[in-house]
Amino acid sequence: MNILLFGPPGVGKGTQGVRLAKTYGLRHLAMGDVLRSAVRDGTPIGKKAKTFMDAGELVPDEVVVGLIEECIAGDRGKDFLLDGFPRNVAQAESLDSMLDRLQLKLDRIVFMDAPEEELLKRLTGRLICRACGFGFHRHYSPPQKSGICDHCGGELYQREDDREEVIADRLRVYQQQTRPLLAYYARQPGFAEIDASGAMDEVFERLKQVVSG
Ligand SMILES: [Zn+2]
Repeated sequence: MNILLFGPPGVGKGTQGVRLAKTYGLRHLAMGDVLRSAVRDGTPIGKKAKTFMDAGELVPDEVVVGLIEECIAGDRGKDFLLDGFPRNVAQAESLDSMLDRLQLKLDRIVFMDAPEEELLKRLTGRLICRACGFGFHRHYSPPQKSGICDHCGGELYQREDDREEVIADRLRVYQQQTRPLLAYYARQPGFAEIDASGAMDEVFERLKQVVSG
């Protein structure tokens, strides 16, 4: 079974994706990791992507699609879960034609959504330890001592990406570019939408229901 998860930043695709992949024995293809490992391993398309990154430019759609194709085609026997890709309708169209070519398909396409207020609360509360990288959350899993890591005593900080202005911008980009995927995928077989607000375990149960249903 091949699964695609999509939804706004902060909705929990990454965390839930890891759990789903583990539960169903899927390769978890998270776009950020795919890009980093292709660059690190110096694959043909990884090298191409690196030239854009080194120049401080966005990696273009066709390169992003190529990276995913390298992964999927390179290990065709194994089912996968896509997270963080596609980011826009053009990428979704390329993905569809790639899957056709490889004679594969998406069996479940799950749109995860939550109210913007909750997304903002989740995103702006993240704290990370400078020393060990452990993640905390101001509201959901606060450290015992404010600003200090429970595990190693390191200093906690907020990622540049998680500052309120940057988040407002990420949500805007999502509305303009990624949200239109909803209309694109809602017509396809295997589409489902889940409410991703509330506790992580509850959301995971809802996800499992639509995935096995
Ligand atoms: Zn730490």
